Amino acid sequence: MNGNKTRESTERAAGTLFPNYRQFPVVFARGKGTRLWDTDGREYTDFVAGIATCNLGHCHPEVTKAICEQAERLVHVSNWYFSQSQIQLLDYLPAQAGLERVFFCNSGAEASEAAIKLARKRAYEKYGPGRSKIISLFRAFHGRTMKALMATDPHHHNIAFSPLPEGFVHINAGDVPTLEKFLPEACAVFLEVVQGEGGVHPIDPAFLKEVERLCKEYDVLFMLDEVQTGMGRCGALFAHQALGIKPDLMTLAKGLANGFPMGAVLAREEVAQTLGPGTHGSTFGGNPLACAAALATLKVLVQDALPSRARSIGLILRDALESLASERREIVQVRGMGLLLGLELAWPAADVARDLMKRGYLVTVVAGNTLRFTPALTITEEEIEGLMKVLGESITSAGGNS
Ligand SMILES: *Cc1c(COP(=O)(O)O)cnc(C)c1O
Repeated sequence: MNGNKTRESTERAAGTLFPNYRQFPVVFARGKGTRLWDTDGREYTDFVAGIATCNLGHCHPEVTKAICEQAERLVHVSNWYFSQSQIQLLDYLPAQAGLERVFFCNSGAEASEAAIKLARKRAYEKYGPGRSKIISLFRAFHGRTMKALMATDPHHHNIAFSPLPEGFVHINAGDVPTLEKFLPEACAVFLEVVQGEGGVHPIDPAFLKEVERLCKEYDVLFMLDEVQTGMGRCGALFAHQALGIKPDLMTLAKGLANGFPMGAVLAREEVAQTLGPGTHGSTFGGNPLACAAALATLKVLVQDALPSRARSIGLILRDALESLASERREIVQVRGMGLLLGLELAWPAADVARDLMKRGYLVTVVAGNTLRFTPALTITEEEIEGLMKVLGESITSAGGNS
């Protein structure tokens, strides 16, 4: 496709979709590992990976093979029945997470929704009404359905969506006194280990430990949203495993099936018992195709020791970003864990991302000023060096001339 044709087709597509996204005018045709190619034949090095989703890289041969073989045998049956790939995944995933039970769904927001319903029902059945509050953090992101949205940072709560669901409160990370004030009326504390969408803010592990302890004391569920931090990205298969904490419940999506849509809620036996027959469900959740993709993804992650690779290569990217930050006044801070890294600028970062794209590098912007780097866990030192060769220039040409 030539440039004009690309512009024509992307404008037509943008004019047909709901206008809720602001796409770049690029059409991707193909991906392999850490690289993408557009329909004009341009190559990009991908530090987005479908937003922390294609953790093994694009079109990983094992995952592609699992999807193709499963698609030839059986794509979908209802949750009235089991399938072979679901049974195989059930033998693998909970054991890796150290949590006994799983509920499958199709996205992070659906996983949040299920977790919130479960927490409310558990507290109601144990203690009656009055312990329905979900405590989450400012800067949180838990998804876009109405309840997941209410657990998300209040700046996403649009009054035009009223009436908004009730029973959600937000505290600052580290604010133990306010946490203790809300705990007697709460059914769950719902947290990310690193707040990805909120600007790549890691939560202090000491605070997480304190939340875990207080949740036990008040019999409030300690629920971790590992939708973005999980599946090896932060240097452990699930980020909390690197911090010596253990949730009662954990949500997953994004990297779970390396780009095939899938979400999951994992929980302790006693907690999972809350959702008895008929209390919750999903038509597509845990279907044979998704389970085959997730099983292949998990096996490669574990066999190739990609979580520890995320830790070591993440340190290399982090050091490179830090050393750029030490030379540039317009860089406020470098933050993150493993290969979930953010570089905060003193001004909006959108133009830097746009400029980097022209130079063949894809990154995302979160919280306005922060460039976020979430490449496949297979990203190489050479690719990081390539990015670092242009990042400084991009910051300069986007307006940050110091
Ligand atoms: C992306 C994300 C979600 C929402 O996932 P969807 O699949 O878009 O619904 C929830 N929580 C966190 C931490 C996320 O990063």
